[in-house]
Amino acid sequence: MPVAVRNPGIDLDQKKAATPGIRWQDAIASRRPPMYGRRPCRSALRMRRESGVVKLFSARNLPAWIMLALCLLLSLVVSRQVGREFDQKATAEFAEVVDELSLRVEETLAAHSLILRGAAGLLVSAERVTQKDWLTYVDVVRGGALAPGMHGIAFNPLLGADQLSGHVARMRRDGLPDYRVLPEGKRSAHAPVQYIAPDDARNRRALGFDAYSDPVRRAAMEQARDTGRPTLSGRLHLVQESEDNAPPGVIMYVPVFRRGAPLASIAQRRAALVGWTSSPYRLDDLMQYILRKQGRYDGRHLAISIHDGTERTPGSLLYSRGSPTAFAGNSPLQQQRSVVVQGRHWNLQFERKAAADDMSPAWVTLMRGIVLSVLLSALVLSVLNTRDNARRIADGLTAELRRRGEQLQESELRWKFALEGAGEGVWDRNLATDEVYYSPTWKRMLGYEEDEIGNTPEEFSKRVHPDDALAVQKAIDDHLSGRSAHYVSEHRMRCKDGGYKWILARGMAVGTDDAGRPTRIIGTHTDITARKQAELELAQHRDHLEDLVKSRTAELSLARDVAEAANRAKTAFLANMSHELRTPMNGIIGMINIALRGAADPRQAEQLRKSLGAAEHLTDIINDILDLSKIEAERLDLEQSDFALAELIESSVAMQEVAARAKGLALSCVVDPTLPHKVNGDALRLRQILLNFVSNAIKFSERGRVAVQASAVERDASGMLLRIEVSDQGIGISPEQQARLFQAFTQVDESSTRRYGGTGLGLVISRRIAQLMGGDAGVSSEPGEGSRFWATVRLAVAEGAAGSERVPTAAETADELRREFAGRHVLVAEDEPLSQDVACALLEAAGLVPVLAGDGGQAVEAAARGGLAAVLMDMQMPVMGGCDAARAIRALPGMTGIPIIAMTANAFDDDRDQCLRAGMNDHIAKPVSPDAFYRCLLSWLRRAASPEKAASV
Ligand code: ADP
Repeated sequence: MPVAVRNPGIDLDQKKAATPGIRWQDAIASRRPPMYGRRPCRSALRMRRESGVVKLFSARNLPAWIMLALCLLLSLVVSRQVGREFDQKATAEFAEVVDELSLRVEETLAAHSLILRGAAGLLVSAERVTQKDWLTYVDVVRGGALAPGMHGIAFNPLLGADQLSGHVARMRRDGLPDYRVLPEGKRSAHAPVQYIAPDDARNRRALGFDAYSDPVRRAAMEQARDTGRPTLSGRLHLVQESEDNAPPGVIMYVPVFRRGAPLASIAQRRAALVGWTSSPYRLDDLMQYILRKQGRYDGRHLAISIHDGTERTPGSLLYSRGSPTAFAGNSPLQQQRSVVVQGRHWNLQFERKAAADDMSPAWVTLMRGIVLSVLLSALVLSVLNTRDNARRIADGLTAELRRRGEQLQESELRWKFALEGAGEGVWDRNLATDEVYYSPTWKRMLGYEEDEIGNTPEEFSKRVHPDDALAVQKAIDDHLSGRSAHYVSEHRMRCKDGGYKWILARGMAVGTDDAGRPTRIIGTHTDITARKQAELELAQHRDHLEDLVKSRTAELSLARDVAEAANRAKTAFLANMSHELRTPMNGIIGMINIALRGAADPRQAEQLRKSLGAAEHLTDIINDILDLSKIEAERLDLEQSDFALAELIESSVAMQEVAARAKGLALSCVVDPTLPHKVNGDALRLRQILLNFVSNAIKFSERGRVAVQASAVERDASGMLLRIEVSDQGIGISPEQQARLFQAFTQVDESSTRRYGGTGLGLVISRRIAQLMGGDAGVSSEPGEGSRFWATVRLAVAEGAAGSERVPTAAETADELRREFAGRHVLVAEDEPLSQDVACALLEAAGLVPVLAGDGGQAVEAAARGGLAAVLMDMQMPVMGGCDAARAIRALPGMTGIPIIAMTANAFDDDRDQCLRAGMNDHIAKPVSPDAFYRCLLSWLRRAASPEKAASV
């Protein structure tokens, strides 16, 4: 099939090179790109590696790093500027606060001095003021509470030494009995605390304290007196404080002058002085109040110290808060103010402190700047790398695509080379353009040169055998329409020489257009002519073989039919022979028996007995031959009935006692007493084996003992394998002779035959019977020493207890018949006169009345007349056979229950079955043994009379 002239990436020269014998690798080696052989994941790995730490600092990322450096620099500059501005602003703000606080201190104390002036006014205006008046005044002035920081308002009168006692007396009279002026001692002037409000425990401690006695207080008092203005004392320990390490305090004094006195000069003021109103301060409380008023700095950010005077010594420290550091003088964080408060210089120092967790705005700005710079740089870095990565990924993909394309080309080239190299023709048809590529092998397969075949589909279709063209077209259509997964076709194609080749074409559609229709179909051609020829030859052979088998089968079938016919003829002959021999034997034995019964002369009786023995021997031979023929035709059926095992063995041996004794041999029989009493199996056949072994032992021994032993080889609950051994001390058998034993018609030697007689059938029948009974038979023997014959048979254990198995004699059974059924009529249907006589004699001997019928028709007539107790029926009779007669009798009214017993020389099992099917009850084979005859008749007569009685026979 066609090939689209479509060979991506392969030029014509290369196609030519792609012929068998030239390695396709060579052809493609020159076209291998630099990337060839690289594993697909390598470029990806490299890209990953390049985007690692090393590449982070590559020149490509330089803009990002420059950007980072610039941003950081900018952050630094801005943060410094922010810091500077912040510091300036903070310093200005700080100075503002410092000024405000300083002013506040001045203002507060100035305000307080007004209160003291008011109190002084009271004292000047009133005639007399008592402690109570003082308290009332202060209470009114302060409105329920003293000014913040002010601990009390007191009055200290100026007393001369002579006025002191009167003062004390008056005070005590006014309600202070314990009043004293302290410290005690004589001084030229005194200024004790006379009144102090509020009246609390602290202030009470100050009552009577002579402020004049203390130089610090006195200095302030005298300054106030001389200046006439409120004056603050220096640093002192307030007497209100009970503890020595209490914070320092100051007292403001306001002079009280006599009303109306001139106060222009110091002298006038000294002369007019009456005393001082005063107010003690604890600086801590005062400053707490003042600081509370400003809201810009809390305790963590502001340290303050106040010194009395201009010197800053520990002794002058009035107030300290927030552990201020030493004053440096030029720090924007430190400010100092000197204020004059109520006539006293105070030095105030302030320090602005930064809390540990506070961050300067400059730092915050710097940090933010750094973070922003890093983020910005990362962004730039990312942009740079994304673009670069994208470019590299695109490069990688392009390279990968190129590589895949090349691989595709190589792979296409490779399979074309491979197919061509393997002798496969390649075709490739473009369905859109109908161009077809036919490979050189494709053309050579049909005997053409490269340039002898064109590029059209017709080059293919015109060469397809006309008989195959339709099938080929259908296979292609099926595949292209999606009905088959592949296009496969075996067809003939015409070669250049005009001959045809068988081609296996395989193909597959590849690629589809927008409508889903295949656009291209590619495939191969394989020359399968040799295979087709082989298949043809094989088919011819097979046909020939089948013919052979058929003819052979027909031949064999014919041969089998012939053999079966021969077998049938043999069986029929045997059956006929048996019948023909048994009929006269029946007469002979029957007649001898009758003669014996009437023989009075002992010599004649002895002759008759010998005749009977010879006749019985002859019967045995006939029976043996019959048995063997049955065995060989596989038609020997075994009986299955319960019997007493030990009794069967012992009675069988006992039957040979006379013969043993006649030869002066001892005969013994030992049956293992543990054997089951009653077993199930074929008792007659077991007896047959035993009689054969024992009679042989007696026959081939001249002395010694014949010993019979019976035991179990295997045994279980359901059955056993019985082993019977018969040993003698007779002539024995050599090993060579033993090998020939158990074969039909084999005797050890001819002399033995002459001497001992026999047919050579006994042992072979015994072994076959034993085998049929699931066992075997064999011998061990020493010539001159004796032989030991053994046989094993499988017997089932019979259920239930065994009854007495002693078999009554013929005479005993005949007596029973006479006793129970004497005078009853028994029909004898028999055409053969001798047999009629035998049957009649037997019946009469048992007291029964025989009624004769010479054929089947007469028998039916006799039966129809009635009065019969039983019917004895021969099988082969003229007019009507025994079976038909039996059926006719059964059909007569009242005849369904009458015993009909076949008494016939047809002794085969088939014959017996035939009789039973015709409605007869039992079957006695000729020659008839009186024992069997009487037993059978008694049993059926009893059963007909009363079904229960029959069981006891
Ligand atoms: P028949 O005794 O009728 O010839 P058998 O099959 O019973 O046939 O025996 C076959 C032969 O085996 C005998 O002829 C005899 O030669 C040999 N044979 C059988 N039993 C004994 C035995 N107990 N002792 C010696 N030879 C025996």
